[in-house]
Amino acid sequence: MTKYIFITGGVVSSLGKGIIGASLGKLLRARGFSVAIQKFDPYINVDPGTMSPFQHGEVFVTDDGAETDLDLGHYERFIDTNFSQLSSVTSGSVYQTVINKERRGDYLGGTVQVIPHITNEIKSRIIKAQKSFKPDFQIIEIGGTIGDIESLPFIESIRQFKSEVGIGNAINIHCTLLPYLPTSGELKTKPSQHSVTVLRSYGLQPEILVCRTSKAIPKTEKDKLALFCSVSKEAVVECRDMKSIYEVPLALEEQKFAEVVLKLLQVPDRKADLTKWQELVDRINHPTGTIKIGIAGKYTKLSDAYISVVESIKHAGYADNVKTEIKWINSEECLDNAKCKELLADVDGVIVPGGFGVRGIEGKLNVIRHARENNLPFLGICLGMQCAVIEYARNVAGLKGANSTEFDENASIPVIDLMLEQKNVKGYGGTMRLGAYDCHIKKGTKAHEVYDANKISERHRHRYEVNTDYIEQLKKAGLVFSGMSPDGMLSEIVELPDLDWFVACQFHPEFKSRPERPHPLFKGLIDAVVKQKSAQS
Ligand code: GLN
Repeated sequence: MTKYIFITGGVVSSLGKGIIGASLGKLLRARGFSVAIQKFDPYINVDPGTMSPFQHGEVFVTDDGAETDLDLGHYERFIDTNFSQLSSVTSGSVYQTVINKERRGDYLGGTVQVIPHITNEIKSRIIKAQKSFKPDFQIIEIGGTIGDIESLPFIESIRQFKSEVGIGNAINIHCTLLPYLPTSGELKTKPSQHSVTVLRSYGLQPEILVCRTSKAIPKTEKDKLALFCSVSKEAVVECRDMKSIYEVPLALEEQKFAEVVLKLLQVPDRKADLTKWQELVDRINHPTGTIKIGIAGKYTKLSDAYISVVESIKHAGYADNVKTEIKWINSEECLDNAKCKELLADVDGVIVPGGFGVRGIEGKLNVIRHARENNLPFLGICLGMQCAVIEYARNVAGLKGANSTEFDENASIPVIDLMLEQKNVKGYGGTMRLGAYDCHIKKGTKAHEVYDANKISERHRHRYEVNTDYIEQLKKAGLVFSGMSPDGMLSEIVELPDLDWFVACQFHPEFKSRPERPHPLFKGLIDAVVKQKSAQS
């Protein structure tokens, strides 16, 4: 029977509820339990696919093509399980379903209301995910902060759901912040007490409190929180700021977090096998060197916009025992060649990640040209691959007017063009080529070497592709097409065999990298950097 764990947050936003939920998932998986997750987001967008990375960070993509909140990425990385459309629920998608039913006449003339129609739909999403994953534990994180008007239907649904499944089958973990006042040298518990009071006023009593803090919580404060918030003393869990997010599961395990969860859910505890995770954390904390990777993109002001790329770089670094520093390079600043050279002077490798629109493109082309001409290890992702193809076409294959029709509709040489299936697509949101597709890899290429496979599956999110009309010319000029869709129509990976690492892919490898299993293309990049560095020293 599935047990349900709801995670709410109070006091402030950006508490890292996702990391706490993902860490709990890891601790349960380490005990051999199966875990499914759901993220409930109270905003009205049907999914985050149309939201700007500047505002909302990266859009994560699942195998089945859902465009989701970036927290789902953390969940997949920590729990090492692939989730689905059912894992991401927004108010917008809930309302859309209910309104569509109303328009179809399903409610037979009844008045459609938040309670019970919206709340029933929310509860049915929990059950649908349960039926699909059949997990031992289903972790459901509610976005936003307690007290927000927009999250109320979700909170009400949890209240109903908890009483329907009964004591011992569902719990609520409430995450809060204990601010530290340097003048009095104290951690303050009052905001947490207040947020629990608000939660209670909605009919929800938390069973566990996880407190984010920059300092160790004194026993007196823990006892106070337990007393005022009506949770047992062992259920007040400290979650201190850590150097790496991957240390969080171990810190929570030390405090018997999972043990307390299991006790409350009336499940006998099992021995946790965290040996490999512990080894990972040891490697993170004891690197033998440092390398610097540049990320040349447009959304460099908010690192969350490329969070899976950043994590993937780290994973590959962990495997090679090196610390990876990121240098954010604003592609618009690379328009000037001298400036571009200067910005790339201190990086050991460079990534041009995914993106949309013409802004910053010429700068990206300069970055790629510099990497190609100077054998600087390079990985291009999605838009990064499209730029690599344009750069090669213009500067090597002699196709001077080469461009993407995304940037210039009237490009004289459209080496990148809208995919056929996209030509008649109208509207935004869930309309790109999304999710996992197979790719065949050519033997004897760098891609084949790192994947060690003839066929792979990777996740996509794009509308444009390499125009097949130009593939022969590009091949003749030396660009190797090392990965193609099974029907041979879509270019998935290109590379330059004579350079140490110049590989670009149309898909997003960053969505499949795991801390203990770095993605082959990121590993290829970091390996090449490490090799070049050791040859220099
Ligand atoms: N804008 C490009 C396209 O739609 C690339 C998309 C991306 O990088 N995710 O094809």
